[in-house]
Amino acid sequence: MLPPGVDGTAFAAALAAFKEAVGAERVYTSDEDVALYRDAYDVQWGLPGERQVSAAVAPTSVEQVQKVVIAANRYQIPIYPISTGMNLGYGGSSPNYSGSVVVDLKLMNRVIEVDDKRHFAILEPGVSYFDFYRYVQERKLKVWIDCPDPGWGSPVGNALDHGVGYTFGGYRDHFYSHCGLEVVMPTGEIVRTGMGAMPRAETWGEYHYGVGPYIDGLFSQSNMGVVTKMGFHLFPQPEAYRSGTVFVPKRLDLIPLVAEVNALEHSGTIGQPDYGAPLRRLSMDPAVRALMGKAGGPTDAEFDALAADHRLAAWSCQLQFYGAQGVVDASWAYAKERLSAAIPGATFEDGLAYRFPLTREEQQKVPHKPSLGIPNLELFQSRSPMNPKPSEGHVWFSPLIPKSGEAILEAQRVFAEACRGIDVPTLFGGGPAYGPLSLPQTWMYRAFVFITGWPISRMDPQLNQRVYDAVLRLVQIGAEHGWGEYRTPPAFQQQVVQTYSYNDHALLRLQERIKDAIDPNGIIGAGRYGIWPKHLRDRKT
Ligand SMILES: Cc1cc2nc3c(=O)[nH]c(=O)nc-3n(C[C@H](O)[C@H](O)[C@H](O)COP(=O)(O)OP(=O)(O)OC[C@H]3O[C@@H](n4cnc5c(N)ncnc54)[C@H](O)[C@@H]3O)c2cc1C
Repeated sequence: MLPPGVDGTAFAAALAAFKEAVGAERVYTSDEDVALYRDAYDVQWGLPGERQVSAAVAPTSVEQVQKVVIAANRYQIPIYPISTGMNLGYGGSSPNYSGSVVVDLKLMNRVIEVDDKRHFAILEPGVSYFDFYRYVQERKLKVWIDCPDPGWGSPVGNALDHGVGYTFGGYRDHFYSHCGLEVVMPTGEIVRTGMGAMPRAETWGEYHYGVGPYIDGLFSQSNMGVVTKMGFHLFPQPEAYRSGTVFVPKRLDLIPLVAEVNALEHSGTIGQPDYGAPLRRLSMDPAVRALMGKAGGPTDAEFDALAADHRLAAWSCQLQFYGAQGVVDASWAYAKERLSAAIPGATFEDGLAYRFPLTREEQQKVPHKPSLGIPNLELFQSRSPMNPKPSEGHVWFSPLIPKSGEAILEAQRVFAEACRGIDVPTLFGGGPAYGPLSLPQTWMYRAFVFITGWPISRMDPQLNQRVYDAVLRLVQIGAEHGWGEYRTPPAFQQQVVQTYSYNDHALLRLQERIKDAIDPNGIIGAGRYGIWPKHLRDRKT
């Protein structure tokens, strides 16, 4: 396809300019090549709304990126940068604006620097988590990387989309832990932010701000430039790790449990907490299903009686400790003391323990590798007796809620009610998407994300339509309670951005003014997170 509004002659001239910039073999126009940039998890797969790509171009250096951007301006070609393009569940590598040319940066894959005394790295966009991990391991560097569940993506692409991982504190929030950017602006000019702006500075990966306004956020979940280098703070390899789980007997114990665990986490005592609902073990029992599924859910007394009758805790939380051996042991003892004092009937169970570095054999046996910064793809072993026919993909619904037990209980109630009228099978088999046992993810350091995955199928457009309608409905219901999504695929970005509407959408209007100022031809990432260039602003999807 041609980019909208671009005639065949201009497109041919643009492709020739791209070939001159990067070499003919790295400009992709065949149907087979271009199909690789479709979003395999697109809720609009095969429908008129599916976003299409007209071509792709793969530069290998920042100078080549500049030439591509300049050529795109000359011929008014919409372009869409990706790093490794593995953003499945949030849009894959497909653009918001059909007909865009993807600027695929995965061949820019140099690890520029890793310092294991000052604990930072500077990376190009095509460095994958696997590449980065291998680099660190081969050199026996004493730093950890923080990776998402699948290791297939890249620190740069993941961070720019506000991606998240599993280790300690702010390291899990990948944009938060970045430090300094190099960006090719829509005009082709190269800008470095933070200390990277000072030619002789050696502190790019150490100090975020440089001097003056901090503008890095403009380049995340956005369309203001093409990021070509990025610094990251790294977690020093700890001496030891241990985990332990606390169990609490009653439903409302969730409130002090979250408050205590927050205090442990925000003071740096623990890494990522992982909340659990032991009553889920009973979810195949028809009587329990009926109780959990009844209008309004079980009362607190019914919930507590069920737990007591089955000698199960109402809630659990796995705590993870990283640091010197004596410190992790003392921290676990402190956590037990504190939780016992706050919650009558709390019980505890020791978990795993490691000392680092691990041998390769020990690494293989770690049950959840991202908690120790080890990238892998084990998550995709999703076939199980509970879920014999996994879906072909999914979209995430991922609203942020306050980090409190009260908020969890309220979100359970609201979303369980919202799901009553929704006729969509759940991603992992079993009951409805939300219910009285639903718990949030704790990837973000300072908020919960009450995420659910919704199945999509490349064979069943009707299912996709039902999912599309369901997610849009949940977006609206979430917004009515102040629970905004942190990240969403292009199919939903326009509607999600509309929910951040304070003062007649003042934030979006500001973003549009900035977009117009720095990308006057509107060539980069048109429509990303609802920011359309001026000439396309009347679009509603
Ligand atoms: C089963 C499953 C589990 C998942 N678990 C997680 C998880 O635990 N945590 C998590 O965060 N994600 C998760 N994901 C989502 C996704 O796979 C990862 O976030 C992945 O790392 C994103 O792909 P990427 O790193 O290749 O980024 P990309 O796809 O390259 O980039 C994402 C977007 O950022 C922008 N962008 C990227 N690079 C640039 C650049 N250089 N300049 C300007 N803009 C750019 C583009 O808009 C691009 O579309 C999961 C997905 C699945 C299917």
